[in-house]
Amino acid sequence: MCQDLTQCRVPPFTERPSGPGNPGDLEPRVLARGVLGRAAMKRALLLVLASLGVSASAIACSGAVESTPAAAAVVPEAAPPVQREAGVTPPEEKPPVRDVNAPLVIDLGKVAHGQDVTLKVPVGALGFNVVVESKNGGTDVVGIERITSPSGEVVHELFTPKGGSHATSESSFGSIASASVPQSEAKSANTPEPGTWTIRIGGAGGIGGGGDSDAGTLGPATLHAEARIQMGSTTGFAGGRLDVNVFVPTGVKLGNKTLDSESAATNEGIASRLDTFFNALSEHVGIDRGDVTFLPVKAQLKYVDDYDLLLEAFAASTGRPDNQSLSIMLTNGIDLDGGGAWGIAPGIPGVPARSGTPMSGIVLAIGDTPAVGDGLTMLHEAGHFFGLNHTTEFYGGYADPLGDTPRCDDISLDDPTSFQKCPDKKNVMFPAFYGTAGSAVVVSDAQRAVFRGSPIYKAYKDPLPAMSTMGAHTSKKAAGERITLARSGRALTPVETWLSASLCGHASHGKLDPAAFAGAQGRPQTIDALRAAAVDADLPEVMRKKASAALRALTP
Ligand SMILES: [Zn+2]
Repeated sequence: MCQDLTQCRVPPFTERPSGPGNPGDLEPRVLARGVLGRAAMKRALLLVLASLGVSASAIACSGAVESTPAAAAVVPEAAPPVQREAGVTPPEEKPPVRDVNAPLVIDLGKVAHGQDVTLKVPVGALGFNVVVESKNGGTDVVGIERITSPSGEVVHELFTPKGGSHATSESSFGSIASASVPQSEAKSANTPEPGTWTIRIGGAGGIGGGGDSDAGTLGPATLHAEARIQMGSTTGFAGGRLDVNVFVPTGVKLGNKTLDSESAATNEGIASRLDTFFNALSEHVGIDRGDVTFLPVKAQLKYVDDYDLLLEAFAASTGRPDNQSLSIMLTNGIDLDGGGAWGIAPGIPGVPARSGTPMSGIVLAIGDTPAVGDGLTMLHEAGHFFGLNHTTEFYGGYADPLGDTPRCDDISLDDPTSFQKCPDKKNVMFPAFYGTAGSAVVVSDAQRAVFRGSPIYKAYKDPLPAMSTMGAHTSKKAAGERITLARSGRALTPVETWLSASLCGHASHGKLDPAAFAGAQGRPQTIDALRAAAVDADLPEVMRKKASAALRALTP
């Protein structure tokens, strides 16, 4: 009886066809973005709009800079904040308190566009992340162009993980960019080969910058690069725990409650959303629930309807010390350029364990969407933040770099029935939330490796004597739940499914095209169905707004 609800969540950053075959494409496009500045940033923002969806059956030397872990500047953990377990629903069993590895933070120093920097990765690393940012700020486009392993394998090229179809490591939100290893199935990335890795800093060089990095012309060292290495146990990944900072704008609503950071900490609805998120993370990835801390953020962020607010939302952790935790800002709506979104991540990956940057956190819209849907949307956005692409994109024939996630060749945003035929529809990173919940949610082995390689969580230092619980951390269970976006639990109509799929706001690729949809499905019927949906209290507000916007487009 359930049907497809779909959810379009965070589409990728930039959609350039990439690969060794078209290096010439790099410079013009980068320059264009540099010139366009804010406008380009806006477009890029749209690319990343995550979103919604639920379905009933249905989102870096003038001489290489070399650093070793021994020389690492370890960023201190934050002073222990006041923590309140989100929880009216206490976890059934608390995970044992286990020792965690200290974060390995390596300052790569000042770097220039086009410069190669080296990073020594020790034995036992599960993954690492590199962040480059401009000290000029503003419109300086920066990026991580290439990552080469000690044995010479290029695991990241043209700002794209090996095997990927589009770039993910160029700045879109502010002058900061991020890339992780692994983000692909490259052999020397899984797990990272110990030894000296080489990272080429890219980007257009900004004003007075170096331009084409491949030409070997370095610009002034106006950038700064930093790496974080995630270390596992002596036997590899042995689990870990993820701390979460929940940022709550004063006045945000959930159901009939108006919340702030104090009341959110004891709100049952918030607790159930976090429970869904943590349960799924534990079951499918093997990372346990850590500390949850509720923090206030300014009231204006209770509705994110322009880009400045979105940047503030991503940087909700401003003023807090860097630490290994995921920042999630709750809001009542993400509505940019008429495109509503359920959730949004600032990049693939985001900037882990750093506070206050325009890529430091994810944003989730709550209000009248189902708790389970919110929890899973949180996991989807976290997936982007940890380094995962959508399994398939709605446009361009693009897909993720991972071979063990099927791609959907026939996906079409104008045909909601196409989602049902997609072999990747149950994957947590499917671009439209299909309504799959519980154990039926699929996370592939390669996706798990990406999650586990991120330095954002606290990895356990030692393996348990018996890894009895780790067997459950696969996605092979057949049983599963279905959830729907309709309050009543009914299946969504085709028009509603289309609306839910469109909650990602990409201006040119993932955005709804009401005229095309009406042309394919029948204009009068489409208009009637949209009028009904626009006022249907059974549907979440974000879908009613989408219906209204589509109606305006069809009936000016
Ligand atoms: Zn997404």
